[in-house]
Amino acid sequence: MSYKNFPMVPRVIFGRGSFNQLNDILAIKRLSINAPFIFLIDDVFKGDPWITSRISLSYDDRIIFVSAKEEPKTSQVDNLVEDIILKSKERPSGIIGIGGGTLLDLAKAVSILITNDGIAEDYQGWDLVKNPAIYHVGIPTISGTGSEVSRTTILTGPERKLGINSDFTPFDQVVLDPELTKDVEKDQWFYTGMDCYVHCIESLQGTYLNAFSQSYGEKALELCKEIFLDDTLSKNDSADKLMMASWHGGMSIAYSQVGVAHAMSYGLSYLLGVKHGIGNCIVFEHLEDYYPEGVAMYKAMRKKHNITIPEGICANLSDSEFEIMIDVALGLEPLWENALGKNWKKTITKQKLKALYQKM
Ligand code: ZN
Repeated sequence: MSYKNFPMVPRVIFGRGSFNQLNDILAIKRLSINAPFIFLIDDVFKGDPWITSRISLSYDDRIIFVSAKEEPKTSQVDNLVEDIILKSKERPSGIIGIGGGTLLDLAKAVSILITNDGIAEDYQGWDLVKNPAIYHVGIPTISGTGSEVSRTTILTGPERKLGINSDFTPFDQVVLDPELTKDVEKDQWFYTGMDCYVHCIESLQGTYLNAFSQSYGEKALELCKEIFLDDTLSKNDSADKLMMASWHGGMSIAYSQVGVAHAMSYGLSYLLGVKHGIGNCIVFEHLEDYYPEGVAMYKAMRKKHNITIPEGICANLSDSEFEIMIDVALGLEPLWENALGKNWKKTITKQKLKALYQKM
C-alpha cells in the first residue's frame, strides 16, 4: 500500500476585499520587466471595471478575456499557450486565472504547458507532467467546483474528457474573496454549489473514504446544508460559507475520489457539451439507487430554491451516441471503484447506464 503524497496550495488569502491585495502579492513574484503577468479572466467581466480596474498592469502584463460558455478544451489551452509565448519577450512571470472552474482549470493547464513540450492532450492522465509549471494564481468568482484546491485540471480533448493530474497542477497562490461572487446568477449559483454538494456525497459514500477525506467532507456537507436549507443565513454569510464549502469539498475528494454522478456527468459533457455543474444535477436526479439520502436532500434543496433541471436531453440520441457516453463514463475506473467497490464491474453494466441516461 502506497499513500498519496498530496500537494496542497501553499498560500491562500481569505476575506471580503482580499482581491485588493493581489497587486502586492504579484509584485514580489515578477521575474523581470520582460516577463509579464498574464490574467485569464472570464469574459462576463469584460467592461466591468469593478474587477479590472483593481488590477494594475505594468510593462507587458496582459488581460486575456476567455469565454466560459463551454467546458475547457485541450485545443483552447494550446491556443492560449501559443499566443502567450509568441507575444511575450520572456517566459511569463505568472498566470492568474479569475473566474469559475473553467477559468481556473485553464490557468492551471496553461501554466503547465508553458514549461512542458507538446500539447495539452499529451498530459491528460495521471502524473505525466515532467517540469514544474510557472507561477499560477487562482481567484474563484463562483464557488463550488473545488478547482481552487485540486491537483487536476479537467479538459475535454479530442478523445476524452480527463484531467491533467499532477503535483505541478495546484495553484501556488489562491485568493478567496467571497465578494467576487456577488453577481452570480441564481441558477448558476445552485448548479455550481451542487457540484460541491455532490463532491461531499460521493466522497463520504465512497469506498475510498478515510479520516482525512471524511473530516473535510463532513464539514463541507454541514456548510452545504446551512447554505441551501437554512433561511436565517444572510447573503454574505452564505457566500462566505459556500466559498469554504467548495474548498473543503475539494480537499475531501483530493484524498478520496468522486463517484457515479461525476462519471456519468463527464459522459454528458463529452457528447453534448453539458457544463459540469448542471450535468451533475441532471445525473443526480436519477441516482437514488446509489445515493438514496444524498439524492433526497438534493431534491429538497432544488425545490426550496425553485430551480428547474433540464429534462429529455438524451431523448433523441442514437444507439451509437449512447455508446459514446457510456464508454466515457465507464473509462473513469477509479470513480466506479470508489463508488461501488473493487467488484464494480459485476454491478454496473452498459445496459444499466443506458437505462439511466435514457431517463435524463
Ligand atoms: Zn465536480
